[in-house]
Amino acid sequence: MAKLIVGNWKMFGLGASLSEIEGVADAVPDGVEMAICPPFTLIERAARAAAGSALRIGAQSLHAAADGAHTGDISAAMLRDAGATLVIVGHSERRADHDETDAQVRESTVAAIAAGLDAIVCVGETEAQRDAGEADTVVAAQLAGSLPDTADRLTIAYEPVWAIGTGRTPTVEDVASMHAGIRAALVARFGDAGAKVRILYGGSVKPANAAELLAVANVDGALVGGASLTADSLLAIAGAV
Ligand code: PGA
Repeated sequence: MAKLIVGNWKMFGLGASLSEIEGVADAVPDGVEMAICPPFTLIERAARAAAGSALRIGAQSLHAAADGAHTGDISAAMLRDAGATLVIVGHSERRADHDETDAQVRESTVAAIAAGLDAIVCVGETEAQRDAGEADTVVAAQLAGSLPDTADRLTIAYEPVWAIGTGRTPTVEDVASMHAGIRAALVARFGDAGAKVRILYGGSVKPANAAELLAVANVDGALVGGASLTADSLLAIAGAV
């Protein structure tokens, strides 16, 4: 399957954003799929800037409800309407800053998929959990609690919390071992369809380490934060596929 490189702009991108979107849209390499997830307020403009190109635009979160009294929240249908075709669900910053639970992540994932969005479900252990030898069990529990009943439109992102924005990454052996474990869990849950679910790696991916990380077995792409903010660096990561 083609590798998928997704930029997660987080709460950045005011200002020169559209030129970066256009820069990526003009240069998506053959054989690689690319998406950028800007803040909600930029989705519509970003989707216009990427229209007609291979670059897809996504969102960073959503509410599970179709509509209702949920001040400050955004539904899957609203994301579709703005031009998003995918959404990140359960990023560790959402789990930490907004107390999102596995059950909420699951509900939001089901809602996203039902609305026709591709969902990227994030899992990953903290540094204390890794040091305690609990990384595998933590990730297994997150998968068990966060995944929907079908593999359709589903992507997983393994993002060790301690690697996000820190410049540190796990060893390739640790990445290979975790991704193999996630693959086994997906096959156990979804059968053959679980073999086709992409598993992205995220956490301090940059042009200098992308080739090494993307070559690891069961690493089907990358979820990129800081290094996704300029077209040059996101394209350099895609070029390392
Ligand atoms: P980073 O963030 O690439 O800046 O480490 C990745 C993420 O949080 O998705």
